[in-house]
Amino acid sequence: MADKILAKDKLGEFLGQLKKDRQVFGPQAVEGKAQWAPLQAEKDLLWEFSNTHLSPKDFFFPQTECMMRFVNQASDEQGMIMQAEPELKQARALVNIRPCDAKAMQVLDLIFVQDQMTDDFYWRDKRDKTLLVGLACNDPCPTCFCTSMNCGPHSSTGLDALLVDLGDKLLLRTLTDKAQALAEGLPEAAKADLAQAAGLKKAAEESITSRVGMDQVNAREVMDLYEAGLWDRVQESCLNCGTCTYCCPTCHCFDIQDEVQGTIGRRVRNWDNCMSWLFTVHGTGHNPRGTKKDRVRQRFMHKFKYIPMKRGGEIGCVGCGRCVQLCPVNIDVRRVVNDMNA
Ligand code: SF4
Ligand code: SF4
Repeated sequence: MADKILAKDKLGEFLGQLKKDRQVFGPQAVEGKAQWAPLQAEKDLLWEFSNTHLSPKDFFFPQTECMMRFVNQASDEQGMIMQAEPELKQARALVNIRPCDAKAMQVLDLIFVQDQMTDDFYWRDKRDKTLLVGLACNDPCPTCFCTSMNCGPHSSTGLDALLVDLGDKLLLRTLTDKAQALAEGLPEAAKADLAQAAGLKKAAEESITSRVGMDQVNAREVMDLYEAGLWDRVQESCLNCGTCTYCCPTCHCFDIQDEVQGTIGRRVRNWDNCMSWLFTVHGTGHNPRGTKKDRVRQRFMHKFKYIPMKRGGEIGCVGCGRCVQLCPVNIDVRRVVNDMNA
């Protein structure tokens, strides 16, 4: 790990270096929102934004992803040719990713790559070839609650390097071997720079006033929470629209479909969501999550009870606040979890 100083007027060189052997993406103003896009010019990169409108999870888990293509040969003897889609051709860097979104990618690593049986090649290939350069949040928004979710506005978890905006310069903290080359030739951070970064971290953490308790959620039995009366109330206003799942950096439900035209076809993986009735309906017509209450409860139980139980205490939420901002009927995850905890 190294702490270096990157003057803002040297940013162009820094990004140019990154672009030499990678495709570089960053948050930019697109249609009035902070959104991820390929970075053409240094001036386009945003430095002051609360968070990107959508999370960067689709860099690793695209909304629609071709897994393989196939061709049915003319005769049964010739059989079928199946061809996996090629690996990611070029390495990439995501610059100015927020710490909560980087933490979310680490949570998803636990889901997509668990052991030899569950080792998702498509996810792992993109993760291995992508460098994550974070930007610490100096000014979290009112819906953020990352400090309650094993994360924080200056957290370095899941990042290769972290940038902290110190005004006319940036503190560059390298965190993995992949990022060491970024620091070459840069001056060491002075004690005063480190003290300024520590002050910004403290102030940012203290500005997050939303608190979400997890102690009783962790301590209680699954069935206590499952049968709690709160689900009747929470489900009432939910529209099952799925907005909360699509905007969430840790939601990862998907469906696999074969799209066939004549003798050729492709197998695609599409985002799906647990709020949809169709997601769990069986071929027989039976649906184990047939009611809205079943589906709403599943979303919260999965993130805050099942994932922590099965993945060593990690939580399936990083407190980014996107679902709080975007739910059309104002279902607030902070309130739901505090109710679960109570
Ligand atoms: S965004 Fe709100 S209304 Fe839509 S599914 Fe999620 S909780 Fe329900
Ligand atoms: S559940 Fe809501 S606050 Fe938590 S990570 Fe997902 S979108 Fe962000």
